[in-house]
Amino acid sequence: MSIAEEYFKAGKIASEIRRKIKSSLSVGSRLLDIVEMVEQNITSRGAQPAFPCNICINSVAAHYTPLPQDDLQVKDGDVVKVDFGVHIGGYIVDTAITISFNIKYDAMVRATEIMLQEAIGAIRAGIRAGEVGRVIHAAAQRLGFKPILNLSGHAVAPYLVHAGLSIPNTYTAGTPELKVGQVYAIEPFATTLRGAGVVVNGPVTNIFSLVARKPVGDSTLDRFVDELWSRFRTLPFTYRQIKDLGDAGWLERAVKSLLQKRVLRGYPVLVEAQNEFVAQAEHTITPVENGVIVLTE
Ligand code: MN
Ligand code: MN
Repeated sequence: MSIAEEYFKAGKIASEIRRKIKSSLSVGSRLLDIVEMVEQNITSRGAQPAFPCNICINSVAAHYTPLPQDDLQVKDGDVVKVDFGVHIGGYIVDTAITISFNIKYDAMVRATEIMLQEAIGAIRAGIRAGEVGRVIHAAAQRLGFKPILNLSGHAVAPYLVHAGLSIPNTYTAGTPELKVGQVYAIEPFATTLRGAGVVVNGPVTNIFSLVARKPVGDSTLDRFVDELWSRFRTLPFTYRQIKDLGDAGWLERAVKSLLQKRVLRGYPVLVEAQNEFVAQAEHTITPVENGVIVLTE
């Protein structure tokens, strides 16, 4: 069973953008400029962002994306994770890199790359997700770091970034097998030995997705939901992508109201529980009989 051709096209776009990020990100870069560069590169190649480009600094592990007027910049000493997804017709690839501007954390960034490479090296049709986690955790330990235990890789499915099956970053019993014809994102995260090795919700939520399309008894909100569905379906989005739909105050109230009605879900930023720095590496792969195809390499 082979996967859709779109996965290969999306993967090629993602791998070009990975290189572009590496060559263009520096101290002083505005986070907003980086994510816009990534997202414009995706659309100019005829694809769509599968979710807002995430850019997470230091102890923020995941789910930060800049607001429309965001002034944050990369500073000397920062460890910067850029995580983005590309989709063509709902076929999604998901990939991330970490760039260190802090010599203290270069080894940790390198460790996540090794954790990912060793995980990929172990994957073939029929391996259990928990065995991939064992490889990731063993590499982290050997290299002197902790994996983040409550973040994991995941199966990818049309219009779904997280399609049910998780690929944990530690050994886990009773997990399903990875299958030919399926697509998976593998994403080890590492923190220092002083870290808790888990993330907790932070104070900011800038990313949302639709979970239902039920009428909410307010025609303006219903039209807003229809527009969100036509733009994003079930994929995550952020304020930057809907700023044409209303002023910032109205959008914030509309989003809040739809969160309360459980029409939207939010993705709070995830922060290392001891505030230790975090690094991440991620590729999207598909298993074959005796190995793996890395789509985003
Ligand atoms: Mn990702
Ligand atoms: Mn992912």
